[in-house]
Amino acid sequence: MRRALTLAIAAFLILGFSVSHAGAAVKPGAAVAKPLVRPLVLAAADSPGAKTVPAKLQTDPEITQVRWFHHNEVNGSAAKLRIVLDVTAPVVAQGVLNDSPCPRLIVTVKGAAPGKAEGSLELDGKIADSATIEAGPEDGTSRVAIDLVALPDADGFRVFTLPGNPAYNKPFRVVIDINQVPLLIPAYTPGLRGKVIVLDPGHGGSDPGAIGAGGTQEKTVTLAVSQRVRALLEKAGAKVIMTRTDDRDVYPQPGASDRDELQARVNVANSRKADLFLSIHANAFNNRNIGGTTVYYYQKTQYDLLLAQTLSASLVPAIGLADRGVKPANFYVVRRTLMPAALIELAYISNPTEEKLLMSPQFQEKSAQAIVAGLDKFFAAASLKKGGGR
Ligand SMILES: [Zn+2]
Repeated sequence: MRRALTLAIAAFLILGFSVSHAGAAVKPGAAVAKPLVRPLVLAAADSPGAKTVPAKLQTDPEITQVRWFHHNEVNGSAAKLRIVLDVTAPVVAQGVLNDSPCPRLIVTVKGAAPGKAEGSLELDGKIADSATIEAGPEDGTSRVAIDLVALPDADGFRVFTLPGNPAYNKPFRVVIDINQVPLLIPAYTPGLRGKVIVLDPGHGGSDPGAIGAGGTQEKTVTLAVSQRVRALLEKAGAKVIMTRTDDRDVYPQPGASDRDELQARVNVANSRKADLFLSIHANAFNNRNIGGTTVYYYQKTQYDLLLAQTLSASLVPAIGLADRGVKPANFYVVRRTLMPAALIELAYISNPTEEKLLMSPQFQEKSAQAIVAGLDKFFAAASLKKGGGR
């Protein structure tokens, strides 16, 4: 009873959202996401309180409502995102995955205009970030673009329709199910040889990153250090993939959002199924006296913290700056990569002494050597750990 009530409230909130906010983008953190954090073990067709908005007679077929929730298989732990479109007439729907430039599922609905559902729907970022519903290229069609966290396999999504049932006040529905993409947790072995490592020099192209008092741009320093790390890793037999090798944006088209640019970096690692992802940055702060080295991680596997710790333990004594510690952070690239990842803030570019260091080839090389030594130690320590998982 209590559960049924919660579900009814959740369904009401979803309904309220779709009706009152259709056509408008919702700011992150909007109240609607809250009741959905808990997975609903429930089929869309049975959602209590999911009323339809009856279409006026003699109007062209259209989508009247969009709902979404997480859906768990009874026997499995694999989470699924379910998006349900209510339509006023039978339609044909088809989905296509697209990984370029960002993971996306495009669903074409033939036979209904977007109607009241037109606009963007903010999702919770567990399996997808948002769904945008707009008119399709032909009259009487709609296009639903779902921005995914990661690209599932070809059989990792399903688009199907459910007939309407007037006796239960159910409209015709298009159901989109998307499976959560599992993390890539390698069975680590010691040594750098054969490891696939993605190096991400922070910023680049249109984004200079932080700029020091002497005019040094963060993007220049991050690339210089990353190139040195790459050379050392390759010498040790690792396979290195760079998100960029020169001064450019990683997202292939100009004018990308920050999210698209960061997702493009994540895509490099996820699509190549890398063993590890490492992003290299320089820090900045208003107070120019602040300095030091920080390593950030996002604890999604049992290895992320270990990676940050081994990198920090190697870097701090080697480059001799203040130890600002190992810190958890919600940074996009460490959170969204499917494999263990870390983000290094080598030094503060806003600190004039450290800005000079960051530009010096000696400091860059020393940093690169310490990072590679830290990675080697990480693989040794990780090979002793067993198991893993979300
Ligand atoms: Zn940065």
